Amino acid sequence: MQDSFAILSDAEKLLSPEDFNPLLGKLQSIRKKYKSTYFHAHENNVGGKVDWTKLTQVTGSATYHKLRKLKNVELLNKRKFIEVENQISALASLQCSSFKVDILDKNVTCTKCGFPKGFKNENPDFQISRLDEKVRSIYEDWENTLLAELENYRGNLQYLSPDERTLIEVVIRSSHLPESIEDSLVIALNNLFRELEIVEVTPTLFLESVFKESQVMDYRTFDDRIKKIMQKLVTGKDLSKVRIKLAQQE
Ligand SMILES: [Zn+2]
Repeated sequence: MQDSFAILSDAEKLLSPEDFNPLLGKLQSIRKKYKSTYFHAHENNVGGKVDWTKLTQVTGSATYHKLRKLKNVELLNKRKFIEVENQISALASLQCSSFKVDILDKNVTCTKCGFPKGFKNENPDFQISRLDEKVRSIYEDWENTLLAELENYRGNLQYLSPDERTLIEVVIRSSHLPESIEDSLVIALNNLFRELEIVEVTPTLFLESVFKESQVMDYRTFDDRIKKIMQKLVTGKDLSKVRIKLAQQE
């Protein structure tokens, strides 16, 4: 299309008015054909004939929202989803509405989007339905991965806060992720999947360390002693991975 238009404009420049006149009808007919072809290609591929609502249905779907939240679960592999997000934004950026055929009187292509610039020569409706399928399949994949990992990390459940544990136990019991994913669940999952460092504290050692030197003290001394014990226990450890555990009574 673009080539034929380029030849057409060259022809207009090269021909003298006498030569041009007999050809005028033919040229006009080629121009008309080009305009019509371009207009339809534009409308079918990036313009009003594309069902753009289908794309907003994909990005507005509960599944897509859940993926956007789950993306923050460190254990999951995000590569495929990031690809989908990029493809969605690339496709959405092609959308060009209110194109008028008259623009082609003075321009070879649409002045707004320059179609076919950036267009991958693939039917957008087809691209949208493929993205929709990808979103569903990534969700299925992530859900299965998480359910399997919940089993693998079951032993870590005891180190979560009671609220976090409840959230995870609901997922384990139902064998499904909830209808909507809240940040609190994402945090609980990240905490569960952390390679935790368990620091055990025995009550005897704890009490002895605090009260060894004196059994009565002011608050500041009490506070200092506890801090000193804790520092000794966690020294050299990654504090975000440390969980303090009450040791079995010796
Ligand atoms: Zn356009």
